[in-house]
Amino acid sequence: MSNKTDAPQAITISKTPPGLVLEWKDGFRQTVPFIILRKECPCAECRGELTPLDDPSMLPVAKPLGPNAAVCRQMYKVGGYAVGLKWGDGHNAGIYSWEYLRALAEAIALEQADENAIQH
Ligand SMILES: [Zn+2]
Repeated sequence: MSNKTDAPQAITISKTPPGLVLEWKDGFRQTVPFIILRKECPCAECRGELTPLDDPSMLPVAKPLGPNAAVCRQMYKVGGYAVGLKWGDGHNAGIYSWEYLRALAEAIALEQADENAIQH
């Protein structure tokens, strides 16, 4: 057993809802909406390297996204360990590792399970 997160067995782009459908060998399958992928963009620019302690004017508020910011224009493999996404506003600095995608997908699955539990 290795600690490294396996590459998803399949990554497909879903149109409705718009997102990535990720499937792993262990049977876990989850759609991760593009809006979440864009908001959780792991690049330094989006994460913000400065904290309010470094510069009080740098509040940790996400920059407002433009109308096409969460439109995925292109997906490309990065070195066998990640995918990169190019967005409608031209941003493409985020590298989504398998580990990061799995963590996001699991967080979404948990949230959805919670919502279902409340509805019942
Ligand atoms: Zn980014």
